[in-house]
Amino acid sequence: MTSRSVLVVGAGVAGITAAIHLANAGLHVTVVEKDTAPGGRCGRFVRDGHRFDTGPTLFVMPLLYASEFRALGVSLQERLELRPVDPTYRLVFDDGSQLSLTSDMTTMRDQLDAIEPGSFKGLERYMEAGARHYRVVAEKMVNRDFRWPIDYLRIGALGLLARGNPLANHYRGMSAYFDAPRLKSAFTFQDLYVGLSPFEAPAILSLLSYTELAHGVWYPAGGMYSIVETLVDLARDAGVEFTFGSNVERIDTKTDRARGVLLADGARLNADVVLANADLPYVYDKLLPPDGMARILSRKRFSCSAISFFWGLDRRYVHLPAHTLFLADDYRANFESIVRDHGLPANPGVYVHAPARLEAAAAPPDQDTLTAIVPVGHLRDDGAQDWSELRDRARQHVFRRLRTFGLDDVRDHIKFEESYTPLTWATRHNLAKGATHGLSHTLTQMGYLRPGNRHRRYRNLYFAGASTHPGTGLPTAMSSGRLAARRIVSELR
Ligand SMILES: Cc1cc2nc3c(=O)[nH]c(=O)nc-3n(C[C@H](O)[C@H](O)[C@H](O)COP(=O)(O)OP(=O)(O)OC[C@H]3O[C@@H](n4cnc5c(N)ncnc54)[C@H](O)[C@@H]3O)c2cc1C
Repeated sequence: MTSRSVLVVGAGVAGITAAIHLANAGLHVTVVEKDTAPGGRCGRFVRDGHRFDTGPTLFVMPLLYASEFRALGVSLQERLELRPVDPTYRLVFDDGSQLSLTSDMTTMRDQLDAIEPGSFKGLERYMEAGARHYRVVAEKMVNRDFRWPIDYLRIGALGLLARGNPLANHYRGMSAYFDAPRLKSAFTFQDLYVGLSPFEAPAILSLLSYTELAHGVWYPAGGMYSIVETLVDLARDAGVEFTFGSNVERIDTKTDRARGVLLADGARLNADVVLANADLPYVYDKLLPPDGMARILSRKRFSCSAISFFWGLDRRYVHLPAHTLFLADDYRANFESIVRDHGLPANPGVYVHAPARLEAAAAPPDQDTLTAIVPVGHLRDDGAQDWSELRDRARQHVFRRLRTFGLDDVRDHIKFEESYTPLTWATRHNLAKGATHGLSHTLTQMGYLRPGNRHRRYRNLYFAGASTHPGTGLPTAMSSGRLAARRIVSELR
């Protein structure tokens, strides 16, 4: 296979992972990336000594990372210095009351029973269901392609799925565990990790709360971007070549084959196989000849988006934990506004990340580095959203929520600000509709029903990334890169 060549379009985590597997299998691999640096959504910038992870900030599902690193032939623990984050989050409610999520079950019992007497028993049952769901997803679904409906039967997933109603509505099912609305919120907000509202998500996503408490939330020294750096090192060691600042304008196709890519500067690169890691709906819409698929995809459900603020502060807020989540009591209205109206809720939830709590080097001495993320709807097709107005309103909400935590003067200590809106996600990363997590993970868009990892007509054009199977999240993107690479290698034989 040594003489066969693969062009990977995009140096996101899925693209780099696929490239390593392909190079390890003896193929000649070139990754063509439009940006000047790898990582895609898992980005980083440093300004005046303040270091920001611009996308992911949470290292969750460590067992999945470990198995993906193992599949690359290396040990996760040897490649990344992982530190546990416990308590994982501080949850802050509208009236300022707090709940600290931790894997210390005695502390959890005290806190939960203070909110709703006897509710710790509900948490134990919820964790049991979450463990079951985790096993279905991590062991049965993430690890394989779903090319045919019968694949569900082959893996025995249907039997496992039949227990405990994992496909029922997540939020509705929470009444079986808790009465207090705040507890229902505390163990469903994680659905946002895959860009979904708990009011539309399947109960199987309880696996996210489960893995956080059972397997922990971690922090890789150097921040989340160190995952990208590690993967790029592995890729270079395997012989992968990278071309940065190369914008692919078109995938060159003829009859039922992809021949290579055309770059914006007019250059043409040929290859035996093309693997597109750029967001799949964008690839159909902008890089391939029109065949109706782009239209079909644009009518599918897309995940939500986010407005992110990156602040360099001239003082340090030592009492602000690494991960703080301000949850809204009007939880349902919040998600309806995001999912149905594609807007900014009246009282939005806010996530604040303070990486200097985990690693002093993330900010200059006695100063702070803060990221605030406000989930919002994705771009509407009619272009009716005024993002600079929505961004200003979101900023006011962040300051208001920080005041409920006792931080009154953050605004006065901002040395500089950068911000991203859904327009930024769309233009900077070519994400269709600016949806931060790509195609959403509703039941009708999972497994076999999610777009496959090979083009139906161009038989040597493959896909990897968050909008393909298994879906969004860094370890999952690694899985999708591995699955696509495995298919390429087996089909080239
Ligand atoms: C705000 C935010 C927070 C998140 N938080 C978390 C978290 O805490 N934990 C977690 O695990 N996950 C998180 N995620 C999800 C995670 O970042 C993604 O699922 C993952 O990074 C997707 O990787 P990918 O390889 O599929 O896509 P991408 O990262 O989008 O990579 C695609 C690459 O293709 C390139 N490209 C696009 N078009 C072209 C072109 N025409 N020519 C050449 N190159 C092109 C892009 O520049 C990009 O580098 C978050 C995402 C966001 C946006």
